[in-house]
This record gives sequence, structure tokens and C-alpha cells, in this order.
Amino acid sequence: MTNSSKYDNLTLEEGVLAVFSDCLTLFRKALVCDTMEEKVNYVCLVCGYVHEGSLDSEPEDYVCPVCGVGKDSFEKQ
Ligand SMILES: [Zn+2]
Repeated sequence: MTNSSKYDNLTLEEGVLAVFSDCLTLFRKALVCDTMEEKVNYVCLVCGYVHEGSLDSEPEDYVCPVCGVGKDSFEKQ
């Protein structure tokens, strides 16, 4: 019974690089997941316009591009 893996045919150096590369990929995926979870949408309560992302990054005088109401009229989705 062999404990074969995709790394079997690689030299030690190549194996290390392959494992490192896989780890990096997993790490990046984890980062993307974190970003996705933090992503929120704000919906205009007046016209239903959806602002993608937090309104915190918008200026204080940000208004809905459709109906012109301020941030106060947006609700986190
Ligand atoms: Zn609106």
C-alpha cells in the first residue's frame, strides 16, 4: 500500500515549491472569502437603488444617484 500523492514524482525542491504554492493559493482564497463576507450593500429606501459596498467610503454629502436622498435614507442589506 502506497501513500501516493501528486508530489511523489517531484524532487524535494520541486515538492517544497509545489506545497508552498498550494498554501499560497489557499491563503489567497481565505483572504477573498474574508473580503466577500465583509461586503455589504446599501439599499435606498426611497427608490430601491442598490449601492454596492459600504457607504462609509462615500463622502458625507453622498446622495442617491437616482432620487437624490442622503445617506440617512439608505439601509444596510
Ligand atoms: Zn434613491
